[in-house]
Amino acid sequence: MDNFIGSKKRKIAYFSMEIGLRCGMPTYSGGLGILAGDTIRASADLGLPFIAVTLINKRGYFIQKLDSEGRQTEHPHNWDPSDYMQSLPYEVTVNIQGKEVKVRSWLYVHHSLTEETVPVLFLDTDIEGNSVEDRQITDSLYGGDRRYRLKQEIILGIGGVRMLRKLGCSIQKYHMNEGHSSLLTLELLKENDMNASKVKELCVFTTHTPIESGHDVFSHDLVRELVSQNSDFEILKKYGGEHQLNMTLLGLNLSNYVNGVAKRHRQISEKMFPGYKFSSITNGVHSYTWVGPHMKELYNKYLPCWANEPELLVRARSIPDNEILKAHRKAKKDLLDYVNKECGTNMDCDTLTIGFARRVTEYKRPTLIFSDLNRLRKVNEAGKIQLIFSGKAHPRDLMGKLLIERIYGYMRELKGEIEIAYIENYNMDISMKLVSGVDVWLNTPKKPLEASGTSGMKAAHNGVVNFSVLDGWWIEGCVEGITGYSIGPKLEADKTPEQVEMMELDDLYYKLEYIMIPTYYKRKDEWAKMMSNSIEMLSYYFNSHRMMLHYVTEAYL
Ligand SMILES: *Cc1c(COP(=O)(O)O)cnc(C)c1O
Repeated sequence: MDNFIGSKKRKIAYFSMEIGLRCGMPTYSGGLGILAGDTIRASADLGLPFIAVTLINKRGYFIQKLDSEGRQTEHPHNWDPSDYMQSLPYEVTVNIQGKEVKVRSWLYVHHSLTEETVPVLFLDTDIEGNSVEDRQITDSLYGGDRRYRLKQEIILGIGGVRMLRKLGCSIQKYHMNEGHSSLLTLELLKENDMNASKVKELCVFTTHTPIESGHDVFSHDLVRELVSQNSDFEILKKYGGEHQLNMTLLGLNLSNYVNGVAKRHRQISEKMFPGYKFSSITNGVHSYTWVGPHMKELYNKYLPCWANEPELLVRARSIPDNEILKAHRKAKKDLLDYVNKECGTNMDCDTLTIGFARRVTEYKRPTLIFSDLNRLRKVNEAGKIQLIFSGKAHPRDLMGKLLIERIYGYMRELKGEIEIAYIENYNMDISMKLVSGVDVWLNTPKKPLEASGTSGMKAAHNGVVNFSVLDGWWIEGCVEGITGYSIGPKLEADKTPEQVEMMELDDLYYKLEYIMIPTYYKRKDEWAKMMSNSIEMLSYYFNSHRMMLHYVTEAYL
């Protein structure tokens, strides 16, 4: 077993509440989990001494069903871990609410193209001897109430460190991907005689949340109840907040290296937590995973070795434009065939196709493009467009669910004019089809709430043109009219949110009608150049190989 995990050589432990490794393992909800998966994939390619820790989530996130009105219902996504991984014969215990809860682990081994591996531990409390309630702690990702969530975070943070010990790992860095795993600092403090500076040496913390209300917090009453030892409670109070336990604060106070996930996000984070110093490492996506099969063929032909050296994509200009257009058309046909079959639409390969897919929630503004239907109709008269949506709303996000219904409403209203589809149950496979098959990738979050965003990077890897609000990664990626297009202004210190939205809307419709549609339909060579630029100027940089090399040199070493 030791040989298999390579416990002795694993020096960096990466903790994440969700990890998206493959479509059949529904242990992710969205961007955070996919990023964790890409982190693991890149680390394996690069041969980093990495081990990852998460929860098993045997009932998954959920399967989304949508009725004819777009009303979402959620269904458990039961899956069998033994299809993908093996159960390890080790147990540790963690005290929750005065009771010892047993924790075991599953081992998933990610094999990279370079024949390196990264082990991923999936913690599981579904063990004989645990109470029925405790056996369910690791069932549902982001399910249940605050009490359930805190129990999960105790298992992840404290149980995770204990499991690593049990396996004989001597870890030199603990990387917390968001605050859900911050309780690991409590365990490390106890192991190190409460020496905070020693613990800080060991910890790296990455925040992903640019708003106050997005941070994971727990009331002291709940913490006191579940973390029954008074001394533990006092430590959490000291490092995690005087009035409530703020998991981000806990991570910040006990990590020497703290970063945001884009340059803008670093500034926002420093404003949100005055007195703390943040670095920034802009996210990237795993190139080999997120390039569709047709483009892959081209890259293999013209840019050999690109898979483990995505920097080589900087030479995308050596690929003839017509070959890029041809490969993209094949991906588009694959997507439209799928959409037409699944959604009963009649989408056409010659029509400018706009994609929008991500978690559905208010700040992402999925209905922004429908704000003025007459202007949208005018756009469609300038040159036909068709729209494809996908995305799940969190079960308790009522506004998110309502937004899906509204999209269905617009679909009905525009029937016979603009072809619109909504693909049910967004996941990694659907994401792959979309980011490689549409012509334009639309992103309209409310600034500054998109910490980074990664789906646009996937689109760029496939020569798909980004059209996005200047937030997150796009502030760094956008060269107007060269790598894609921006929506709205960059800085608007003197404007109200309403004025900003008006400017964004104006830009959205204006650029579609007067710039993008004419280029797409009448100046195909210019359009092809932009596709090629997306690959050359965006994907060579916004990939997880570059991201991990930054983590190594800035955070781990
Ligand atoms: C890439 C991806 C995301 C993240 O997309 P964002 O644009 O960053 O919100 C979410 N879900 C799935 C399935 C993905 O593949």
